[in-house]
Amino acid sequence: MHGQKSDPELHAPLNIPLRISANFGELRSNHFHMGLDFKTNKKEGYPIFSIDQGYVSRVRISPYGYGKVVYVNHPNGLTSVYAHCSKFNTMIDSVMQALQIEQNENEIDVFFTADEIEVQVGDLIAYSGNTGHSQGPHLHFEIRNTATQKALNPLLFGFEIADHISPEIMSLRIYSLTQEGYVIPGKIQKVTLPEKNKGQIIFADTLAIHPNFLCEEGNVGFSFDMQDLFDEESNLCGIYSSRLEIDDQLEFCQAIDSIDFTDSRYINNHMDYTAFTNDKRHFQKTFKTLGNPLEIYPCDQNGIKKIEANKVYHLAFSASDFKNNETKLSLNFQAESKAFMSCREIFPAEKYLFPDSSYSFENEKIRFLIAKNTFYEPVLKNLSLNTPFSIGDVDQPIQKTIAVAIKSPVSNSEKYYVQVITSGGIKKALKSSLLNGWINAESEYMGTFSLNQDKTPPTIAAYNFRIKDQKISKSEIYWKIQDATTSVQSYNLYVDGIWKPVYFDNKSYTIGYEIPEVFSGEHQFKVVASDQCNNTQIWEATLNID
Ligand SMILES: [Zn+2]
Repeated sequence: MHGQKSDPELHAPLNIPLRISANFGELRSNHFHMGLDFKTNKKEGYPIFSIDQGYVSRVRISPYGYGKVVYVNHPNGLTSVYAHCSKFNTMIDSVMQALQIEQNENEIDVFFTADEIEVQVGDLIAYSGNTGHSQGPHLHFEIRNTATQKALNPLLFGFEIADHISPEIMSLRIYSLTQEGYVIPGKIQKVTLPEKNKGQIIFADTLAIHPNFLCEEGNVGFSFDMQDLFDEESNLCGIYSSRLEIDDQLEFCQAIDSIDFTDSRYINNHMDYTAFTNDKRHFQKTFKTLGNPLEIYPCDQNGIKKIEANKVYHLAFSASDFKNNETKLSLNFQAESKAFMSCREIFPAEKYLFPDSSYSFENEKIRFLIAKNTFYEPVLKNLSLNTPFSIGDVDQPIQKTIAVAIKSPVSNSEKYYVQVITSGGIKKALKSSLLNGWINAESEYMGTFSLNQDKTPPTIAAYNFRIKDQKISKSEIYWKIQDATTSVQSYNLYVDGIWKPVYFDNKSYTIGYEIPEVFSGEHQFKVVASDQCNNTQIWEATLNID
């Protein structure tokens, strides 16, 4: 099953034992985990080494996503990626700082050519950290195909991680499906499984599928709540491969070798989204809904199984990790009856929005624009073009953003933004722009939309020092910058009138300035911050540095 040969020449990215806290393909919110997370003893600052020779092809500094990240292109057509770094090596740090100063931009994404920053195998390129969207110090490590930028399973390249434990399969779900693999609303049957014994789960009784579960076409599909463990680690990871047979016929298979970043959000269709979002369960479907482009299903079968009522079927399922530790499940099932209703009648066109259509709904107050393949399955329309404006089902995910425009009550105000209230009553301030009297935004959520105002600038406060301090004897001073209504969009520090690069930590909402070695005496500090609606705050003080 493993697609590529491992390369014994690769250098480990860390010089501490490689312990995994998350593996490739693990289920995350709106994406698959695209690499391996290596533990760094809950600390920052471990040296990170290039796994092979090549050149630094890209370095990015962002408060979000990968934080501070280095990409290295290698001669064998692969790119290695090292994310959430605390800092880069001295050379990369000075190159990046010079570019930040040149552009007066804190957040930069720089691409380099092959002759700029060459690296040898094992060269120190950065230090591990916790920058960007990271829940604690670790190294997020990826291997990509340089040409396609698809993420590859790094375990294909031979990092030795001890694993002798087969996956856990906790429970399964049966779904009544249309021929396209759309789940019939409310037709989900939940089945708890007996415990695994020597890698086998045997469900002794014949499982009865509820009466009136199937529609006339009689299609079912399954999902399995599965996780995997590495030896001596408590972190639950994702499984690697699975295989479903019914009556000895292959119906579905999965192997997570490669994921395209543009497809990664299709995880919302690969897993049982509601179980993941509401119950933190990791149900992975063993059927492929029409339109799912993920390249993790290496056989032709789509797992959508047409069944007869009152006939016993035998299901054999197996799940494996990368080291081929396997858990097998055996189960008989039988449907008691079929409904007389066709699946097609379940989704009337006047009540639902469909994946294979594009939509535009508008009047003089509001416009909704929906591209084709925005939805994974038919979703309830819930359309209102009068206040409160609404569209769709708040509890369902979408693949593409919905364009929303609301007519501005005044012709020139940039202080307005579009707000969406989505699942659980959560309010999101959407990044909005004024154009021809309309406030425009892109929404990743369905829900209720309104026009709100933000006239309040961010707050800026001294974080680890006081303005009144006689002398400040810190190696680094911090400010906390927050915006109550929307979010902080820009932050700039000037020391004695000169712009200085800073990093915005999106977890503590702070920026820090490292005090230079020879710097004692009075200095003028100025911090300027703006929010999404261009409300600007200025903090100024003369500080006496020790
Ligand atoms: Zn990660």
